[in-house]
Amino acid sequence: MKELEEKIKKYGTVLPGNVLKVDAFLNHQVDPQLMLHVGQEFAKLFANEGITKIWTVESSGIAPAVMTGLEMNLPVIFARKHKSLTLNQNMYTADVYSYTKKTTNRISISKKYVEPNDKILMIDDFLANGQAVEGLLEIADQAGVQVAGAGIVIEKSFQPGAGELKERGIRVESLARIQSLRDNKVEFVKD
Ligand code: 5GP
Repeated sequence: MKELEEKIKKYGTVLPGNVLKVDAFLNHQVDPQLMLHVGQEFAKLFANEGITKIWTVESSGIAPAVMTGLEMNLPVIFARKHKSLTLNQNMYTADVYSYTKKTTNRISISKKYVEPNDKILMIDDFLANGQAVEGLLEIADQAGVQVAGAGIVIEKSFQPGAGELKERGIRVESLARIQSLRDNKVEFVKD
């Protein structure tokens, strides 16, 4: 998505440890027009899949997920993150290791908002090692719901998440794919 790549080029900065900082439009300040276009793109890519709900993880997945839900006219559920959470029989839970924060969080989705014939579209801001999406997949598995795929705003293609998910047969659609952040320079995958 050209508009997204332009924003990344203009505002993205590279932090140590292959972390791309995009606080100017996605992770702190949010650009609603850009997010709307992101939502429209995911809605187009995943049209006619029989999706019933959008899932994401708080907090940076919420903006693109809500815009996707708006475009597809579907409810959006964001898994809540807790440092630790005692098991609760009203929730589905999974443990997710955060690449950027180097901590493990337990994510949870209330059973109240899951129906047996749900088909889920997962949306997230970044895909790096795939832990966040794996956590949502684990919850989908526990809940016995179908998964249509994952819509990712920025994929770091040089990290293993996207490849591993595709190998498992999960459809992954990423709007910007980064080949390298070497020498503090953002290089996109050439199609
Ligand atoms: P994964 O679970 O795929 O390793 O990483 C996904 C999560 O980590 C995303 O939800 C995002 O919050 C965070 N993340 C991973 N890599 C980056 C990065 O380069 N920049 C930012 N801002 N967040 C990242």
